Amino acid sequence: MTSETQASAANAAQARQSISILGSTGSIGQSTLNVLAQHPERFSVFALSANSRAELLLEQCQQWQPQYAVLRDSTQAGWLAEQLLAQGLSTQLLTGATGLDTIASDPQVDVVMAAIVGAAGLQSTLAAVDAGKKVLLANKEALVMAGALFMQAVARSGAVLLPIDSEHNAIFQCMPAPENGLSASGAELAHGGIRKILLTGSGGPFRSLSLDQFAEITPDQACAHPNWSMGRKISVDSATMMNKGLELIEACWLFNCTPQDIDIVVHPQSVIHSMVDYVDGSVLAQLGHPDMRTPIAHALAWPQRIDAGVARLNWAQMQALTFEAPDYQRFPALKMARQAAELGGSAPIVLNAANEIAVDAFLNGELAFLSIADIVADCLEKIPLTEPMSLAAIQAVDKQTRQLAEQLCVARTASAHSIAGSHVNN
Ligand code: NAD
Ligand code: MG
Repeated sequence: MTSETQASAANAAQARQSISILGSTGSIGQSTLNVLAQHPERFSVFALSANSRAELLLEQCQQWQPQYAVLRDSTQAGWLAEQLLAQGLSTQLLTGATGLDTIASDPQVDVVMAAIVGAAGLQSTLAAVDAGKKVLLANKEALVMAGALFMQAVARSGAVLLPIDSEHNAIFQCMPAPENGLSASGAELAHGGIRKILLTGSGGPFRSLSLDQFAEITPDQACAHPNWSMGRKISVDSATMMNKGLELIEACWLFNCTPQDIDIVVHPQSVIHSMVDYVDGSVLAQLGHPDMRTPIAHALAWPQRIDAGVARLNWAQMQALTFEAPDYQRFPALKMARQAAELGGSAPIVLNAANEIAVDAFLNGELAFLSIADIVADCLEKIPLTEPMSLAAIQAVDKQTRQLAEQLCVARTASAHSIAGSHVNN
């Protein structure tokens, strides 16, 4: 090797970015590893993490040989530690919430992919932000629950925040280029000549189903999204359209705007991933095959571009791009989310926590699809609106809501059983 090639190899090694993935065994986590595998010269994996899927985490450790692996739920930690040792891997195993915080904030980490689902991802994502990392945010629930605190931490720490949610990544790409990711101190929309953000959504698997058929919807039907392959929780959120509501709140924080600045547009083909409407009449859109590796690759390489391994759009075969208004009657979750966004304070925390509990109960076969929105509505009505200012206060509202939502789910299941029982008896 010449001294020149030695120097360029050393530079490349030095420039390699070190990544922790919070939630590496999930849908976003696995797509992230797929993109990383295409660019070994650019990225190295520092840490991987899972909630409980120890076997898959072990496979990922074999392939990536990270410095750390974190198992949130320690039940299988003994087994995993033994396996790592038996296979001669030097990966150190950590457990619990502190393990996640460690891999999110370690000084050796450059980039954190925040891809844990739900409120469970808040603390470690905030740890990454506080440590001033480049944070790739998939975990939208963190921002829904703690937007103000989160964006203040971004501004304070100088973290670079980049959206992974395909719509927000699209909006980011269609906006005037910011110099350092997104932050609460970002310019007002009007300052950038922006009239509206147009947040698109496919409408989910039940976009054209009549309301009288909603009662029979099963978890597997709800998880069969027409365009995207995703984790089960977000799939149900897409089916109720709560996902679009959570995304509305997410967009308000990411782009420093109000719910009135955002229109929701249903676009069943999921080719356009969102748009920005400017005062001069220009509308900029980002298009692409519906594959999360595009926003992941975009954020990983930003402000450069790298190959994501994604299929190209086929213009000759694309029939039509269609658009329609959302139906708030069949999808009440969307309306509740908009109201919660307008109310602010604790309302989005309650919305999110009640939804997580209700979706879980639905996925476990304990709650009807239509009852998901009812549980959320009941919690929003019963839990008084407050202004939680700290992480502890936010977590307290989250906990209070989960307790109430669980009681409400149990009560509904019991009454459904007694109605079913009375039918049998009759
Ligand atoms: P998923 O269910 O496939 O994966 C979730 C990951 O989080 C897994 O690695 C799991 O082990 C981990 N996890 C779950 N509970 C945990 C806990 N209590 N503590 C620690 N780790 C835990 O979910 P997903 O579809 O990859 O979604 C992840 C996040 O990205 C969600 O917030 C979702 O809204 C968002 N998102 C996903 C997609 C998508 O296409 N899948 C698109 C946009 C946004
Ligand atoms: Mg999305």
